[in-house]
Amino acid sequence: MEVTVKDANYERVVIALDSILRKQGYEICACPQCVNAVVATALNCMTPHYYTDPKWNDCAGSPWEIIETAVLDAIRENPCHRREGF
Ligand SMILES: [Zn+2]
Repeated sequence: MEVTVKDANYERVVIALDSILRKQGYEICACPQCVNAVVATALNCMTPHYYTDPKWNDCAGSPWEIIETAVLDAIRENPCHRREGF
């Protein structure tokens, strides 16, 4: 049995993170550990919006304002694998 349940906010957080890093000049360590830490921190601040059918994804996520605020807060926590040893 294949189960495909996804959180619509995951893709929105990744898009918002990429956009914010490009446009606003924040610098974070770009290694997968640190990028994943930012994404996880942002997702943990929001209510998940699960979906099973890809065509529902566009309408199932949190509002973009909430996504961007969560991503900015996660960036400001500035996770760094070198400093924190994770
Ligand atoms: Zn890193």
